[in-house]
Amino acid sequence: MKAMVIGGGIGGLSCAIALRKVGWDVTVFERNERLAEDGAGIVLAANAMKALERLGTAGRIREEGAPVGVAELRTWKGNLLARLPVETQALRYGTPSYLIHRGTLQSILYAHSLHLGVTVQLSKKSTEWIETKESVELRFTDGTTATGELLVAADGHRSTSRDQLWGHIPLRYSGYRAIRGIGRFEDPRYPLAAGGGFEALGRGTRFGFSHLGGGRIFWFAAINEPERQGTPLSPEERKRHALQKFRNWYSPVPAVIEATPPSDILTHSIYDLAPLKQWSKGRVTLLGDAAHPMLPNLGQGGAQAMEDAVVLADLLRHKPAGEALVQALKAFERVRIPRVHKIVHQSRLMGRVMQLESPLALAVRNTALRAAADKLFIARLHPLVGYEPPTL
Ligand SMILES: Cc1cc2nc3c(=O)[nH]c(=O)nc-3n(C[C@H](O)[C@H](O)[C@H](O)COP(=O)(O)OP(=O)(O)OC[C@H]3O[C@@H](n4cnc5c(N)ncnc54)[C@H](O)[C@@H]3O)c2cc1C
Repeated sequence: MKAMVIGGGIGGLSCAIALRKVGWDVTVFERNERLAEDGAGIVLAANAMKALERLGTAGRIREEGAPVGVAELRTWKGNLLARLPVETQALRYGTPSYLIHRGTLQSILYAHSLHLGVTVQLSKKSTEWIETKESVELRFTDGTTATGELLVAADGHRSTSRDQLWGHIPLRYSGYRAIRGIGRFEDPRYPLAAGGGFEALGRGTRFGFSHLGGGRIFWFAAINEPERQGTPLSPEERKRHALQKFRNWYSPVPAVIEATPPSDILTHSIYDLAPLKQWSKGRVTLLGDAAHPMLPNLGQGGAQAMEDAVVLADLLRHKPAGEALVQALKAFERVRIPRVHKIVHQSRLMGRVMQLESPLALAVRNTALRAAADKLFIARLHPLVGYEPPTL
């Protein structure tokens, strides 16, 4: 049985590995001529680490990434709001969260997929597919085609496969922009050996800092601003913009930005999508950001793509044919949609709380965080990070 996967991102590669592990013949088609090595840091919570365990790559993540040993919440002036009980969480789930460079995660998944016998074809941009009773024919911009029994579209948050399935549905702008950077920086208050770092909260603005593995640090900022159109900022402009926004913040924030090469600073407008009622039609399903773009406030987009991959492979392990395959894809969306939609919703709520602007609301939020952040952290996140994906 042949599976075709559109997209060589975290979702597409995880799906290819998972399907290969249950015996499918898998080809990934990626439009770019190489797999993305750029990007910033990505946090892998316990549920992501469990999914990576099922895929067989968690060991490599532990070697290359940095465990989160400290997670503080502070005000923009540096006053401590809470120390999140990350050790308790690690004990409870049998693993800490890890931070890793997205490019490193991507290359670990890529190497593992090749090792298992997945075929990855680069410079292959899909345009559309035609489905028959027995198979799907996928077409590419270079005029070639490929055929398989199953098509998984993991082509990201601006998925054109989603457009083909359900027509174009506009993304929702979050109201804020993310700036992310990677550099080398040392601070005795945040020693490398401890891992992790802090998140500082201002008015409609926040800044986070964490160790990334390999001696590097990762920082991110989210800033309330209108959706930006037009020419993107140059690397130098991005750095100037970040320095200007954070110049009076808790030390080490300005120094961390100062230490980052402009070319390692990225900015993105942040979007999600109103939850879809269906992800599959016939022999075709969406997966990862193509199915459920979410705001990054809970650090769960990649994790949910990996969970999708493991659950889909579990449901397809007996290689169902004909109508049974169509029904397996329906079962996939029935299992996944309720969980993922809750997370899309919670990520929006979290964004609202973290990006508040009104001084009164900020004061109430900070008082609540001082009083109960540790308990909230464990209790509210349990359904999310305590998830056990099926074994492949
Ligand atoms: C600021 C920010 C911070 C984040 N932080 C975290 C975090 O800490 N933890 C976490 O788990 N998640 C995080 N996420 C979310 C995470 O990055 C995404 O959910 C994840 O990358 C989705 O993977 P994907 O494979 O579904 O999509 P993508 O990574 O977008 O991959 C899609 C792939 O499909 C390819 N493609 C597109 N169209 C075609 C086509 N027609 N033909 C062939 N190939 C095609 C693209 O080139 C790309 O390689 C964050 C996101 C953002 C924006």
